[in-house]
Amino acid sequence: MKITRIAGHALVPGRIIKDHIHVGGTEIHVPHVIISGHNPGPVLLVTAGIHNAEFVGIQAAIELSSEIDPEQLAGTLIIVPVANRSGFENRTTSMVHEDGKNLNRVFPGDASGTAADRLAYLLFNTFIKYADAYVDLHSGDGYEELIPYVYYVGDTACEKQASAMASCVDTEFIVRSRCKTGGAYNMASVNGIPSVLIERGQLSMYPREEVDADKSDVINIMKYLGMLDGAHETYTKTPLIEHELFSPATGCWYPEFHPGDTFFEGEKLGTIRDYFGKIIHEITATETGIIIHQCASLNILKDGPMISYGAFIK
Ligand SMILES: [Zn+2]
Repeated sequence: MKITRIAGHALVPGRIIKDHIHVGGTEIHVPHVIISGHNPGPVLLVTAGIHNAEFVGIQAAIELSSEIDPEQLAGTLIIVPVANRSGFENRTTSMVHEDGKNLNRVFPGDASGTAADRLAYLLFNTFIKYADAYVDLHSGDGYEELIPYVYYVGDTACEKQASAMASCVDTEFIVRSRCKTGGAYNMASVNGIPSVLIERGQLSMYPREEVDADKSDVINIMKYLGMLDGAHETYTKTPLIEHELFSPATGCWYPEFHPGDTFFEGEKLGTIRDYFGKIIHEITATETGIIIHQCASLNILKDGPMISYGAFIK
């Protein structure tokens, strides 16, 4: 998209902007970095911290903000390193602090809604809609373990480009999502912006090798988009169909497997017990699959995330 301004800043070749933008009706100021390349090219948006306790992407975004040289860049790189800033600063489990909402369920947002709605509206209308391509960095929250994988949205006008971007991500597994509502990258996708969501890291940790892997993926996608010199790599993937299981009860959680483990239909996946050790529920697999992320904490919450597994495409 040919644009000359982002978030009120003129795009001047070679310039780096580091600033905050105020979300109207809240106390939130969203940090962002705009790197205007010396040469013309596409606009790539990278967001992290839409879930504020998913730190691998946040740290990768912070580091990329200082490491991309505008002299070597074609196009514009926009980085929002901590999208849910108030959640980050109040140590929530990835919900927006002011209203307890999951930011990645309320896009494209509402300028007159609660804080999460307003924040989503600002992110969508200030950054996302001006992007030619979009990468959203996620990982496992403090209670979640997961294996690295990448999502793109199927059945959109930009599916082919999104799929090509996803193939630049160095993960073994890929999910072609059917979700077209609520999430930042989902809404971007249905608005014609090729987008991927990368999941890497778990338990709110941010190991160096995973931060570096996120950075390598973004740089590889930038090479694919022609924003940086050099040939891009592509990685063969195993496609999965994702199924999310939510907990039928609040209690203590004892999973049988870990992410990356495969299981067969009929196997026990985990047990929920009460505080006296009595079994409340046993979860049994209704089909064969591989655990991609799951609750890793002792406490599990009714209707909260329990297990997300991938079914292999036959
Ligand atoms: Zn997330």
